[in-house]
Amino acid sequence: MRVILLGPPGAGKGTQGRMLSSLAQVPEVASGDLLRAAVREKTALGREVADILARGDLVGDDTVVKLIEDRLNEPDAVGGFILDGFPRSLPQAELLDAMLTRRGIRIDRALAVMVPDAEIVKRISGRRTCRNCQTMYNVVLDPPRQAGVCEKCGGELYQREDDSEETVQHRLDVYNANTKPLLEYYSRAGILSQIDGMGTPADVEKRMVAALDGLVPK
Ligand code: AMP
Repeated sequence: MRVILLGPPGAGKGTQGRMLSSLAQVPEVASGDLLRAAVREKTALGREVADILARGDLVGDDTVVKLIEDRLNEPDAVGGFILDGFPRSLPQAELLDAMLTRRGIRIDRALAVMVPDAEIVKRISGRRTCRNCQTMYNVVLDPPRQAGVCEKCGGELYQREDDSEETVQHRLDVYNANTKPLLEYYSRAGILSQIDGMGTPADVEKRMVAALDGLVPK
């Protein structure tokens, strides 16, 4: 199963990607997670992109494509993958197509998780992420049992620097300008499904699995 998750920041791509990943037994490859890991580990890449991430701007296409290509070369991604947060621009989508064509494979489905802007700002400004396993909570909508502590692994919950209200609005603008055109790109390719992202994660998961139409067990 080779799937792309599209949709604005805060639409639930990470949550859904992890659920689909465990259902379908293929890795979730999240460009944002890979970039944040590089920043955390202070690698050369991490130092190059730290300010860009903090501002909510896009990292250069060639840099991200190289990162994803390296990740997709790892053995666990050979049988399939779920891409979350990549591609994020038309050049990235075209470079991904070229990369997959070289390998003789293609994307089965692009799932676009649709959520209105007002809901996104509400979701993201309350969002807290586990430093250890990346599970997300929302201090208002879905608080952890113990404040600041991940229920799954006991890790520390933190607010991403780019989840502040001002930066979220900028990230939405960046999404609308650069990433939204991909809906049309994948619609033309005949592989786009638009999914209503409102409701509980379980509601959204049911819609995703239905749109994947037999690619994952129901
Ligand atoms: P995310 O976790 O997907 O919200 O990504 C966090 C940040 O990482 C974004 O705001 C960008 O700065 C950067 N980023 C993630 N994926 C990409 C991508 N495909 N292209 C460019 N920048 C990206």
